[in-house]
Amino acid sequence: MKGVAILGATGSIGASALAVLEQHPDRFRPVALTANRSVDALRALTARHRPALAVVSDAEAPRGSEGGTRWMAGREALLQAATHPDADVVVNALVGAAGLEPTLAALHAGKRVALANKESLVCGGPLVMEAARRGGGELIPVDSEHSAILQCLAGSRPADVRRLVLTASGGPFREMPPELLDSVTPADALRHPTWEMGSKISIDSATLANKALEVIEAHFLFGVPYERIEAVVHPQSIIHSMVEMVDGSVLAQMGFPTMELPLLYALTYPERLPYECRRFDPVAAGALTFEAVRGDRFPAFALGVQAGRAGGTAPAVFNAANEVAVSEFLAGRARFAGIARAIAYALDRWPGGPVRVLDDVRQADAWARRAAHESLSRLAPC
Ligand code: NAD
Ligand code: MG
Repeated sequence: MKGVAILGATGSIGASALAVLEQHPDRFRPVALTANRSVDALRALTARHRPALAVVSDAEAPRGSEGGTRWMAGREALLQAATHPDADVVVNALVGAAGLEPTLAALHAGKRVALANKESLVCGGPLVMEAARRGGGELIPVDSEHSAILQCLAGSRPADVRRLVLTASGGPFREMPPELLDSVTPADALRHPTWEMGSKISIDSATLANKALEVIEAHFLFGVPYERIEAVVHPQSIIHSMVEMVDGSVLAQMGFPTMELPLLYALTYPERLPYECRRFDPVAAGALTFEAVRGDRFPAFALGVQAGRAGGTAPAVFNAANEVAVSEFLAGRARFAGIARAIAYALDRWPGGPVRVLDDVRQADAWARRAAHESLSRLAPC
């Protein structure tokens, strides 16, 4: 029986993780669940799943214990959930740079981290990989593209791999003329064609900033240089990613889009368990098509990949500027095109620097948040 802590249990990935646990109650037991502010939603989850610990990181917790669940509040309590002694696996389903410290804490404590929070690797890649090595923990991706790559890599050696190809749905604006993009609303951008996700990643998928975050994530996870990582638009989201081997053979992992399967694989890797879900039907999937990523339509993608190649703290600056701009866009205070402009504004002015300790990331993050606000305040809102 594996104990599982789910950080961000009230979110979209959190819900999928709990659905996976419910199919295998003899294998997995939720030991800690966390939320940021949604106390009522977390209370409903604790009543159903009865974890030992429930944490709200940015709200008042109900006092004491309830039905065998101990309640705690604050950032320190979130780190306690990430290092809970009964947790064998920590599912990090937090959103944004706030996920970095819990990832580091869990890895230092020797846990397996099932990582949905790609921002951890983008902001602190060198620190995260070092924590995994030193703490004796493991980092297993939950992002569907990276789970696909991990599955395609099974049985191969690093020298066998020529190229990673990440697929991207292209988001809701794949076919929209670039000149119309500036007038899209948050509601338009949240309407993803193939995946149902939290609001931040939905906007990242509309700008393709998400695919840049994923290129950086793949670079650190698989140790592959940027010139051997590519992205291609695949609107049907059936092929989750591909690996080209040195002999020219290409492996792809496919299925109908669901986050439950990558979550299950991150829990059971390298083994597999039976699972009830919509079985794949190639005829129902229909034609699979591919297109190049268009840089003119998706400048945030190119900016993110450039930041990845620049290395050091540049990816943390890219991420933080993006987080601010996305939240301002969602609040109706920024235009869609303002997101890429804010990222460019911050990256253009950032002098650069290495990631040696967590404070390097924190400083770059705080600086980029200020720069993004400055950029957005210069532009007219919607
Ligand atoms: P979401 O917004 O639905 O859920 C986020 C969860 O984290 C919630 O429980 C929320 O209470 C908590 N949270 C938010 N901010 C926090 C903070 N500052 N401190 C502590 N807790 C906080 O997000 P999601 O769509 O589930 O995405 C979670 C992560 O998984 C993101 O990094 C996203 O990029 C990644 N991801 C999501 C999907 C998907 O299908 N939703 C797919 C691949 C990767
Ligand atoms: Mg993904």
